[in-house]
Amino acid sequence: MHFHDPIVRPQTDVDSLFIEVTAGCSHNTCTFCNFYEDTPFWIAPLEQIEADLQEAKRYQPYVKNIWASGGDPFVLSADKQIAVWDLMRRYYPDARITTYATINDIKHKTVDDIKRIKEHGLDEVMIGIESGDDDVLKAVNKGYTAADILTECHKLDAAGMTYRMIYLGGLAGKGKLIESAKKSAAIFNQIHPYYMMYTNVAILPGTKLYEQTKAGEFVEATERERIEEVRELVADLTIPITINTMTSTSSVTFVTTLPEERDVTLQRLDAILAEFSEQDERVLQARRHSMRYV
Ligand code: SF4
Repeated sequence: MHFHDPIVRPQTDVDSLFIEVTAGCSHNTCTFCNFYEDTPFWIAPLEQIEADLQEAKRYQPYVKNIWASGGDPFVLSADKQIAVWDLMRRYYPDARITTYATINDIKHKTVDDIKRIKEHGLDEVMIGIESGDDDVLKAVNKGYTAADILTECHKLDAAGMTYRMIYLGGLAGKGKLIESAKKSAAIFNQIHPYYMMYTNVAILPGTKLYEQTKAGEFVEATERERIEEVRELVADLTIPITINTMTSTSSVTFVTTLPEERDVTLQRLDAILAEFSEQDERVLQARRHSMRYV
């Protein structure tokens, strides 16, 4: 199998067959991200993808899920993607195929393009939306606005492409998380992701955010504030969605399905906040500050 390091994927998809479609990220300038610092964006040739599918098929004739690996394979044109998904379908006609997409990748596709992509085998996308707050999106250089999130996700909805999303807690900085969560929820309530991976920012050496933090231009939120932020999202989201915070960077870990489990989740978070001590704060901050990669 061919892979450029690192392989980045959601925890929920670890049991998938990984097939490299791209390497690196076509954007690669978010201020907090060091995933692909040593991996320039690259597109796998169809011959490589087919060789990997042939090899995989020998050892795993049946797989339930395929993760099309790379920072954002959805950046490829509709025609290029269709060639990839057709190939995957030839070897694994029944597998569920998923990959990463960015909001900017969707901008370059029409609803018709997305419909064709879906018809040829891509079942759903995972989008690192991170935030619905324009101030945050601009500050971390995501390259799109909250209005773009609405426009592009509505295209996915119109095309029948299901999608999950990633939210990055803590990104607004100290004192601003609740307001940012409120703004984000107002945007997410107008789109239809059915699942949210809720991660939290760590200041990683080598990133622009690390330099901004050292220069005092960004002030990290406390761990308590991060729990209050996720509580706000749980309280404010009105769409049916599962929130999964089971990541190494989370201040509190849980999986909850809204709206059914909203009340019990809010009660549990309130209980955690009521007992949250300075010692808890120190332990969680120390763990976060020891991170070099997430
Ligand atoms: S956060 Fe996502 S879009 Fe931004 S640089 Fe990292 S991989 Fe690329």
